[in-house]
Amino acid sequence: MKQIGHFIAGGVTTGSGRASDVFNPATGEVSASVALASAEEVGVAVAAAQGAFRDWADTPPIRRARILDTFKSLIWQRMDQLAEAITLEHGKTFEDAKGEVLRGLEVVEFAVGAPNFLKGEFSENVGRGVDVRSIRQPLGVCAGITPFNFPAMVPMWMFPVALACGNTFVLKPSERDPSVSLLLAAYLKEAGLPDGVFNVVQGDKEAVDALLAHPDVRAVSFVGSTPIARYIHQTGCANEKRVQALGGAKNHMVILPDADMEMAANALMGAAYGSAGERCMAISVAVPVGDATADKLIDTLLPKIDALKVGPGMDLASEMGPLVTKAAQDRVNQYVGRGEAEGAKVVVDGRNFTAPQGYEGGFFVGPSLLDGVTKEMSVWKDEIFGPVLSVARAQNYAEAVDLIHAHEYANGTAIFTRDGDAARAFSQDIEVGMVGVNVPIPVPVAYHSFGGWKASIFAEHHMHGMEGVRFYTRLKTTTARWPTGQRDDPQFTMPTLG
Ligand code: NAD
Repeated sequence: MKQIGHFIAGGVTTGSGRASDVFNPATGEVSASVALASAEEVGVAVAAAQGAFRDWADTPPIRRARILDTFKSLIWQRMDQLAEAITLEHGKTFEDAKGEVLRGLEVVEFAVGAPNFLKGEFSENVGRGVDVRSIRQPLGVCAGITPFNFPAMVPMWMFPVALACGNTFVLKPSERDPSVSLLLAAYLKEAGLPDGVFNVVQGDKEAVDALLAHPDVRAVSFVGSTPIARYIHQTGCANEKRVQALGGAKNHMVILPDADMEMAANALMGAAYGSAGERCMAISVAVPVGDATADKLIDTLLPKIDALKVGPGMDLASEMGPLVTKAAQDRVNQYVGRGEAEGAKVVVDGRNFTAPQGYEGGFFVGPSLLDGVTKEMSVWKDEIFGPVLSVARAQNYAEAVDLIHAHEYANGTAIFTRDGDAARAFSQDIEVGMVGVNVPIPVPVAYHSFGGWKASIFAEHHMHGMEGVRFYTRLKTTTARWPTGQRDDPQFTMPTLG
């Protein structure tokens, strides 16, 4: 059986204690065993990162950037290897996995610009002979705790920026799909990253709690579900760390009567069923305005859902793969039943999906479509995180906006319309962090920043882009005067320079 260990101080180490099964979701078979780090093992990784910090922080930004540039080239060359590792443990299709890697790679491309974005500010002669400069310095050891649904992209939202800024890093990936983290660590080493600058500890709550408690961990970046995000934020802040914790989502797409229906339906297919709905930016609620729009939307969606190819991720013909675990499969099936019991109409039922031959043990579900969903129902309130699209009909635009505002989550949203006034008002007024206009999954490019609002985030800073730079650095301002022959008398009032 394949053993998946940690990557500490430049080498792979096997775990010394607890372990967990890793599954191939397409077959349902156990494919590997992943080590679950103890607090002591986490301590060894943090010590390696702490030991490497001073020299890495003192390395000129251009040299740090060159290593990341080589890392970037290795990712390009090994895209298929990374994507295969993702598909075999996560279940998403191979092409989707490549897309994920590419979105992570964008952040590496951004991080290569570190010499530019780390430039400071300088003000000359703020008083006679007095200059001020402001610079951003690294924090020290930073930790990243990441979810199963983007095992390459979400870590890459974090560590390229952290490393470019001169920090060292300890990544705690999801125990469901841990292999890709070790590939990334190996590529960083091959690119010339000094040992100890980037480390991986595999694990679960025990490893997370050890990172949150460790005094040498200065900052914690987290992406995952809201209850854990809230816990990470509260615990990390109580331990006086800088914390950014991104949580769950329930993303609505408003479809106005004037929308290009074919465009909207195609967008919904990808946004609701792509990656089997296991995306924090998936659209899980369609909000057509007016019954005629809703009926037209459903009529346009039905043949597309019927044609959706569900199968193993490594089969290039598959458009949707299995869910990540048996528990996820059971949960999604239960939600469809719960929606039905609560009064929603099950227009397409993804339960009892027949898996392709040879994959009967896989964690497959078919796509589901529910109509008549209201905000009293659990299928609207809860994040299902599966291929279940709810249609919540609104009678007018204001009702659609009210529905979105009623939800505790506010990660992403979209509006489909040809009406510029309505689109502008929507993007201006909606209380959601990331907005798409005729764009279903508005994940910002790497040089902008990613983050939701409300219970989708517990943080002062969003991720990557300049928000990432602000998170992974602290500001220092130096005010300097040089003796030029002028000597001031002692001054006992508040110094004023102007
Ligand atoms: P999760 O919250 O179960 O796990 C995330 C991480 O936290 C993992 O590394 C896990 O090992 C660790 N963890 C789990 N339970 C813990 C506990 N009790 N104490 C400490 N650590 C714990 O999330 P998941 O199921 O891996 O990922 C899916 C969730 O992530 C969804 O809710 C999704 O919306 C969210 N997500 C959000 C974003 C975003 O940007 N907002 C992006 C991707 C995923």
